[in-house]
Amino acid sequence: MPFQGRANLCLLYGEIEESRDFTSESLSRFCSLRKKKVLNGDQSACIYYNEKVSSPEVSSYIYSTVPDVDSIYNYGLDNVVCPYEALKWALRDAEIVIVPYALYLNPVTAQRLLYSWGGVEREDLVVVLDEAHNIPTIARELASFEIAVGSVNASEREAQEYGDFELMPGYRTSDLCEMVRNAIYDIVRDKVGESEEVRIPFSDLREYIMVGNHISGETYDDLLRYLEIMGEFVAEQKEKSGGKVPRSRILHLYNVLSAWENVDEDRYVAVASSEGGGKLIAACLDPPSSLLTPLKVSKTIHMSGTLAPHLMSTGI
Ligand code: SF4
Repeated sequence: MPFQGRANLCLLYGEIEESRDFTSESLSRFCSLRKKKVLNGDQSACIYYNEKVSSPEVSSYIYSTVPDVDSIYNYGLDNVVCPYEALKWALRDAEIVIVPYALYLNPVTAQRLLYSWGGVEREDLVVVLDEAHNIPTIARELASFEIAVGSVNASEREAQEYGDFELMPGYRTSDLCEMVRNAIYDIVRDKVGESEEVRIPFSDLREYIMVGNHISGETYDDLLRYLEIMGEFVAEQKEKSGGKVPRSRILHLYNVLSAWENVDEDRYVAVASSEGGGKLIAACLDPPSSLLTPLKVSKTIHMSGTLAPHLMSTGI
């Protein structure tokens, strides 16, 4: 049977949120809270989480039609049943499961998948890797991240919506957003020039922020620390007062700025790009082995029409 993550299948999220900007952790927290409320008697917390998710009728639909994402999503809407929970329930009878790479390579979601699949151990799995030549690229993409002007702007808007508190005397969240945005603009202007993107030292971001705003490295570190607190506050507010997904663009900004500061320069390169108004990319060249190690635990069959030796990989 095909299996997908909550991100593609949560019906409730689509009803109450305008954008699809969340992490799998925040969506998982949102879902857990909703389900807990339902189990405590408040069915209105998620009308899709009901007895139908474990009904033979829904399992039979899944096994007889082997639906793709759109089909199971629409089936859930038409029949008022959560597609994700229904797939999870049906999973316990599955012998073969088809999952996207991103889901299986994410240790948290993979663990959930294996748990729902009757506690299957990785050692007992035979994993068929389709288009296996893409694995290094997928791993690099999963490990890469960026700081984009668009996302800094979104963080600033969120800060204003939630009171734009001072992180430290004289520095509001919007001020830090402005510092980061101006640093990206300046780096792109000074370094990228006519080309679309160029490699830069990771230290550029910190230096441009410090020099451009006459602040010390210590002040920048403190601002980052308080940015995290502000982001967590916003995420909590969304969860408590709006019943929304506990995600925060400010928290996301903190996460990428902090990751930028602590990046392993033996594995990553920094790139400045003019795309989308400007962004800094931490491009992973050598994904941590921890990302792919779980694959080694299972027996794997690598399928590809382009892997060498060609005679082997094409099965001739
Ligand atoms: S149970 Fe409700 S909140 Fe959770 S994934 Fe399903 S529709 Fe979304």
